[in-house]
Amino acid sequence: MSRTPLFAGNWKMHKNVKETLEFLDDFLPLAKDISSEIAIFPPFTSLYAAAEKIKGSGIKLGAQNMHWEDRGAFTGEISPPMLKEIPCDYVIIGHSERRQYFAETDDTVNKKVKSAIKHGITPVICVGESLEQREKGMTLSVVLAQVEKALSGVQIGCGNDLIFAYEPIWAIGTGKVALPSDAQEVIGAIREKLCKLYGNVAQDIRILYGGSVKPDNIKDLMAQPDIDGALVGGASLDAKAFYQIATYN
Ligand code: PEP
Repeated sequence: MSRTPLFAGNWKMHKNVKETLEFLDDFLPLAKDISSEIAIFPPFTSLYAAAEKIKGSGIKLGAQNMHWEDRGAFTGEISPPMLKEIPCDYVIIGHSERRQYFAETDDTVNKKVKSAIKHGITPVICVGESLEQREKGMTLSVVLAQVEKALSGVQIGCGNDLIFAYEPIWAIGTGKVALPSDAQEVIGAIREKLCKLYGNVAQDIRILYGGSVKPDNIKDLMAQPDIDGALVGGASLDAKAFYQIATYN
């Protein structure tokens, strides 16, 4: 089993090109001390500038979404080959904001996961329950159903072909982080499901926690056996805070 911790910064609709380059001016010197893997997910318009700036730094780059088709009449969409050209290593698929505001479904998540893997882009697949679902005791059934549907018909060659992020919707951008033991319970159950689907290779699949991760709560989350890093929204916009999260020890 080998799972390198990953700290992934989802910038959402923040930072234009100038702000992206300013962030990297501050972050690149700090990143030299980080032993974990780092990936940033700027808006599409900043991807190319970020790719040029991080060359040789070891920092990975990802997009926040993509279409599953290679090309076509899909106004406003971005294709996997376009992301490969940048080049992007990762793509976030099925973030709860896309499910909630942009009609992302388990079916489109599944199509995007298959397409990303086919193109050699690692999908970071987001799953998570709403507050109402948690209060009704439905967390595990909701999350495991999302995992199963995302992976329907998906073949993998190795554990690095995909990444999961467990992001309880009620914890995203709210300042309410999940209890580390609750996050472990769900992430452990996701790993069990992955073991059923893929056998031992599932021990190599990284599963991140996301939802109000900050420098002062990351250490307890990372102490859990199945949590392999974090998908960080707000706190990843600040170079110092993101560095502190990635060097939690
Ligand atoms: C996210 O957007 O994936 C996220 C976890 O946001 P935040 O860290 O701001 O809660």
